[in-house]
Amino acid sequence: MTACIIDGKAVAAGIRKDLAKKTTACSHTPVLAVVLVGENEASRIYVRNKKKAAAEVGIRCEVFEFSGSIGENALLSSIQDLNDDPHVDGIIVQLPLPPQINPQKVLSHINPGKDVDGFSPYNVGLLAEREESAVVAATPKGILKLLESTGESLEGKHVVIIGRSNIVGRPTALLLLNHDCTVTVTHSKTVNLSDTVRQADIVVAACGCPKIVKKDWIKPGAIIIDVGINRLEDGSLCGDVDFEEVKETASYITPVPGGVGPMTVAMLLENTLEAAQRHACCHDENCHCGRCGGN
Ligand code: NDP
Repeated sequence: MTACIIDGKAVAAGIRKDLAKKTTACSHTPVLAVVLVGENEASRIYVRNKKKAAAEVGIRCEVFEFSGSIGENALLSSIQDLNDDPHVDGIIVQLPLPPQINPQKVLSHINPGKDVDGFSPYNVGLLAEREESAVVAATPKGILKLLESTGESLEGKHVVIIGRSNIVGRPTALLLLNHDCTVTVTHSKTVNLSDTVRQADIVVAACGCPKIVKKDWIKPGAIIIDVGINRLEDGSLCGDVDFEEVKETASYITPVPGGVGPMTVAMLLENTLEAAQRHACCHDENCHCGRCGGN
């Protein structure tokens, strides 16, 4: 068997095309505020990519840059300003933050209605409670869309997730549980990881270990979603799955690059548009709904 490749680039392109139409129909230009702290080169590249992708679908992305020595209170106060600004629909804080700043405190400070990364405890809580109004983090949402793109039913499928981080593993577990999967979450202390993965109908690999998932870990016909992005010594990128081996056993598989990565950006833009649609009334000076602050 050779697996069908799930083309995340193509799925994301279709979503972005649809988003461009919807932003045109939105009552105002959606505005995404990106908070960037310090000089982290990777963060700067991510922010530049998000800004470019946003512009392509008609979302205005405003980057608020702060020195790496900023204090926690000063950063919280700037986020409050964005919370209170009725023209801002979505706010994201590019991680990682410098060590003097507690990321959980910062993420908790974002108005949940503007938390388009879905990382605030409020939105994670809504997801845990199966509330449809939860803003779901971009990567898990992208993973779900890629699974749905296969046309395979998710009901009753055993998903094994490798990784339990707050931004990928945990929210993916909740989201797929909400879609009637049976979910096992594994991590660095899991005993006999390969035996657990071998039971999976769907594997979501999100541990940041290059090519750790091998062909003999995979049940024939399983669907493989590779979230990992690892840079090898020769400068090339690879996932957490040994793609060349595993594609011989899986039914569907995402490549790296070109799988989950493009979906993450597309889902962030979708979350921003949805926030803008919810906040449409806030752009009227007579609005007192309180969702967007400022009025
Ligand atoms: P984290 O480092 O926050 O979490 C990694 C998780 O993997 C932890 O739960 C850790 O376990 C677990 N883990 C580490 N080593 C092993 C191992 N040998 N066996 C089993 N579990 C292990 O990473 P993220 O969740 O932020 O990201 C994971 C990967 O996904 C990275 O490569 C990252 O670059 C990529 N990524 C890709 C995105 C995309 O859009 N494609 C978006 C976000 C991330 P423990 O909790 O015990 O430490």
